[in-house]
Amino acid sequence: MTGLETELRARMKSEGPLTVAQYMAAALGHPEFGYYMKRDPLGRAGDFITAPEITQVFGELLGLWCLDYWRCLGSPDPFLLVEMGPGRGTLMADALRAVSMNPDFLAAARVHLVENSPVLRAHQEEVLHDHEVVWVESLDRIFGEVPLLLMANEFLDALPVHQFQRAADGWRERLVGLDSETGGFRFLLTEGTVSLPETLAATEVADAPPGSITEICPGGLTFLSDLSARLGCYGGAALVVDYGYARSAIGDTLQAVRGHCPCAVLEAPGYTDITAHVDFAALTTTALDSGIHVHGPLSQGAFLRSLGIEARTVQLTESVPEKERWLLKSGCQRLISEEEMGTLFKAFALTGSSQPVPAGF
Ligand code: SAH
Repeated sequence: MTGLETELRARMKSEGPLTVAQYMAAALGHPEFGYYMKRDPLGRAGDFITAPEITQVFGELLGLWCLDYWRCLGSPDPFLLVEMGPGRGTLMADALRAVSMNPDFLAAARVHLVENSPVLRAHQEEVLHDHEVVWVESLDRIFGEVPLLLMANEFLDALPVHQFQRAADGWRERLVGLDSETGGFRFLLTEGTVSLPETLAATEVADAPPGSITEICPGGLTFLSDLSARLGCYGGAALVVDYGYARSAIGDTLQAVRGHCPCAVLEAPGYTDITAHVDFAALTTTALDSGIHVHGPLSQGAFLRSLGIEARTVQLTESVPEKERWLLKSGCQRLISEEEMGTLFKAFALTGSSQPVPAGF
């Protein structure tokens, strides 16, 4: 039994079942036993791999996207360059290298990383030791009345979600409790019906047939409203890349992986990565309600192609040995092909109102 399992069992015995969001928050972020708190889960030797770890071109293109938009804003000095959940720091390192041909951009950038994992923060400190970087635990801890350029790759899918299931008489919240037969955890439902959160109640999800499951991510919506408030006041742009659906949908999207293989969500909490699809429609509604412009979501494949991923990959392959050439080409294909990450992953941008449309949209 994992340390977290022991603690969660004691908590459930005294307080009753947890919501799926409470379970996910503990499994990922418990200060002692949480998945992200004690290990580097990324890369081939870890549990999953992300776009910046697949090819350097991903971070380079996102860096150039920021540089291009900074110019559109009239090259403000200073401005905030922020990344949410930067993992190993690879994306930011590749981005900063790609924009280094413009020293004015680098001099004006106040780089902030929003990270809550001590292990990954140590990685980021190492990779970015040449740059002046400020670390914070959430977007609302970043101050400065200046424009913002923000990147977030696979950050929102790691934020806890609540799940609701349609019963014959209405919606119930899905919970995680103790299974008296097996001694493990199991899903159950609240005894009484609950009202669906406003953002879901207003969509077609509300009329789903019995048995349907739907999800809401309060942390994602809070992030979006903090971000929108900042963009509304001081201008700038944010680029969110993640996997998810363009319209609020029905379905249980909670998933767990370990060692690059799917595993059960309720098994070995603290040792598996748990994520849920991002509901881009809910994010769009939150942003539009704050008067912010939304661009996309569009497929990661289309977005990266229009930023020139193929041309840059060809350019890089010209000066490297055969094996690296293959890695670069297959990495590019993995990010853009429909069968791999090209369609499931989406790019989504937000800008202050009356600002130009960002590159790629
Ligand atoms: N963006 C990186 C890593 C994605 S994994 C990449 O593409 O490789 C998710 C990242 O978000 C990790 O760095 C994790 O520690 C961070 N994270 C997860 N939940 C967080 C939270 N609530 N606050 C801040 N960072 C968080």
